Amino acid sequence: MMNFEGKVAVVTGGARGIGAEIARALASRGASVVIADVNEELLEQMEKELLAGGTEALGVKTDVSSLPDTDNLIAKTVEKFGRVDILVNNAGITRDNLLMRMSEQEWDQVIAINLKGTFNCIKSVTRQMMKQRSGRIINISSVVGLMGNAGQVNYAASKAGVVGITKSVAREFSSRNITCNAIAPGFIQTEMTHVLSEKVVETLKSQIPLSRLGTVQDVANAVCFLASDEAGYITGQVLNVDGGMVMA
Ligand code: NAP
Repeated sequence: MMNFEGKVAVVTGGARGIGAEIARALASRGASVVIADVNEELLEQMEKELLAGGTEALGVKTDVSSLPDTDNLIAKTVEKFGRVDILVNNAGITRDNLLMRMSEQEWDQVIAINLKGTFNCIKSVTRQMMKQRSGRIINISSVVGLMGNAGQVNYAASKAGVVGITKSVAREFSSRNITCNAIAPGFIQTEMTHVLSEKVVETLKSQIPLSRLGTVQDVANAVCFLASDEAGYITGQVLNVDGGMVMA
């Protein structure tokens, strides 16, 4: 179960945090992994880590908000590995502020990376996956996109938009055996959440049925499932990985 031998995966924002763990999880199950990130130094480190573990890995410096960059990412992937089986759209940023104080730049940056970045990567990979007549696209959304959050109108809009992209792409690509699903993580222990005070973390935990924050492995496990052959009859879905915090 969940064996990715012979499969090629592209993970954006793969240099650290959740993306890095997704890259490790796919690699440990046999995939060749291409990581794309703006952070060149961490990208190189991650590429070295994967290569040292025996994975066929490649780091490609990519700003997902640029279509020429994402075209280059997929071209480099196909040049080296000949195909793309799995695309994980994970790169994302926050620029939090109350709407009254939010600058146009804070709005534009988050939409450009989280929302347009997801569009760009899918657009760049489309021709290759269509040709292969198979593919798995997994977009990392957020529970904030489903329930909203004060101070995050830009982020919530981008992540709700990712759900809209997911469902539309699932419909457009279904005849070519390409599935497209989203994962909506809740509060995950990363550098993003390390800054929260103990009191805030305790309050958060009280709102989570499973009474803990999620781990990067929790998200990576869900990605592996949706990327697997076993998930072939699942498309257009949003899988919450949030300890039960948001129930539809
Ligand atoms: P992270 O630790 O900040 O890592 C994100 C990575 O993406 C970083 O390496 C970052 O580079 C890179 N990146 C930023 N802008 C980029 C761009 N334009 N093109 C390519 N790469 C770019 O974030 P994370 O916490 O792992 O989150 C990963 C994803 O999960 C995001 O989409 C986030 O919204 C989502 N998510 C996270 C949580 C959570 O609790 N952490 C919850 C729900 C959803 P730099 O280091 O240079 O910034």
